[in-house]
Amino acid sequence: MTVHSKNERKSSIWADNWKDSSYWLDGYPEVQDFSRQLPKAIDVVIVGSGYTGLNAAIETARAGRSTLVLDAQMPGWGCSTRNGGQISTSIKPSRQKLSAKFGNKTAIDIRREGEAALDWIEERISGEGIECDFRRVGRFHAAHNAQSYELLTRDAEYLTREEGIEAYPVPRHDQRSELGSDVYHGGLVFPKHAALDPARYHHGLLKRAVDAGANVIGHCAVTGLTKTSIGHDVTTTKGHIKARDVIVATNGYTENLTPWLHRRVIPIGSYVIATEPLEPDLVNRLFPKDRIASDTCKVIYYYRASPDRRRILFGGRVSAGETDPSVSGPRLHNDMCRIFPELRGVRISHSWMGTVAYTFDELAHIGEQDGIHYAMGYCGSGVSMASYLGMRVGQKVLGLKEGKTAFDDLPFPTRPLYNGKPWFLPPIVAWYRWRDRVQYERARSTN
Ligand SMILES: Cc1cc2nc3c(=O)[nH]c(=O)nc-3n(C[C@H](O)[C@H](O)[C@H](O)COP(=O)(O)OP(=O)(O)OC[C@H]3O[C@@H](n4cnc5c(N)ncnc54)[C@H](O)[C@@H]3O)c2cc1C
Repeated sequence: MTVHSKNERKSSIWADNWKDSSYWLDGYPEVQDFSRQLPKAIDVVIVGSGYTGLNAAIETARAGRSTLVLDAQMPGWGCSTRNGGQISTSIKPSRQKLSAKFGNKTAIDIRREGEAALDWIEERISGEGIECDFRRVGRFHAAHNAQSYELLTRDAEYLTREEGIEAYPVPRHDQRSELGSDVYHGGLVFPKHAALDPARYHHGLLKRAVDAGANVIGHCAVTGLTKTSIGHDVTTTKGHIKARDVIVATNGYTENLTPWLHRRVIPIGSYVIATEPLEPDLVNRLFPKDRIASDTCKVIYYYRASPDRRRILFGGRVSAGETDPSVSGPRLHNDMCRIFPELRGVRISHSWMGTVAYTFDELAHIGEQDGIHYAMGYCGSGVSMASYLGMRVGQKVLGLKEGKTAFDDLPFPTRPLYNGKPWFLPPIVAWYRWRDRVQYERARSTN
């Protein structure tokens, strides 16, 4: 993390000493030194110490399996301490789309499992006593034009009637009761969606995994996995280990360690800024019900108030692969001010990014390939799903029937010539951003 002085950049949008690291890490408790010696042999090695890896570790360690979690960086360095802290059911494809592909029963089971994951994470957090500001604040999903609002209204009817999912439309003239913006054309409220502080949640999981007996070691990259007759030889930057089972939990940071998985996930940047502390009245006007919010733009925006309601955290996919927060920050600031003109003149205190994993079928995947267990591909909505599938993959390693999921037998698609480097993304993201902007301007000019 670097603290930047405002004078480094001419733009007036930067606060003095703004940081290019996650806002959530400001309150992240000190992480003790996990850099202990590697054991020679272990029951379970887990690669990656985010929500997937730690939830798996809690299961295996509590069942008495010696468990080692390794991360190439500090534990939690990946998306699990830098996300937007918004929790939904995480299933992107509609039931109709899933039915056409996998049949009605699987479609229903997958959609239900998304709902179950949302309930499960609440139980996990309260059952484990993790203090992370988890609250069922509800989501306002805003329509960026009138046509999208019509589609959302139909969706709400269908979701409630066919899937029992609570969702109701709020027309444009009532929108200010949900969100302090006039740019949208109404939206849907999902009252069950929730918010949390992602880094405090991560830290709680880390503590529970360590308390259960798991060993968590940072700055130890796994560089090779070789199958043997009794398990796997695991090569790391700190030495070799023999492991009976291996779980790969690397999501958007999956690379050539597991070439089969590398060819199946599409890494894509996601970006967030935090504002300086604001006047309470302003936050109350913009987020009167404290909802988390997102919109129907193809290149989605997601935003919310911070748990203390002092700042706005505004996120989006401004680019496919930009890695410099001093470049993504001004773009997000511009987009934020278009939605909330009252924030013009408000400065950025934090700007950061991370890499999420998309998949070609927009579904998360869990399974076993060449004897290696994995769960990944949360398509940018992994707070509940990574946690839930992490827990399930841990149960699978234990051979428990509870480890079964609706995702188990799904094919994990790739594309010919795709090698894990999404060369096709920058023009697609640029095109969708342009199209969203045109649709938005057109909707504005017809009002
Ligand atoms: C900016 C941003 C905003 C987001 N907002 C939301 C949101 O609001 N709601 C939501 O539901 N989801 C959101 N997400 C997505 C969510 O954060 C992720 O889906 C989730 O954290 C994935 O958890 P994970 O444990 O699978 O992976 P990660 O937390 O990314 O952990 C993977 C870890 O694997 C490690 N690793 C990789 N290769 C190796 C190796 N060879 N050896 C050792 N370690 C290795 C990495 O160092 C990394 O720490 C967001 C993501 C980003 C980046």
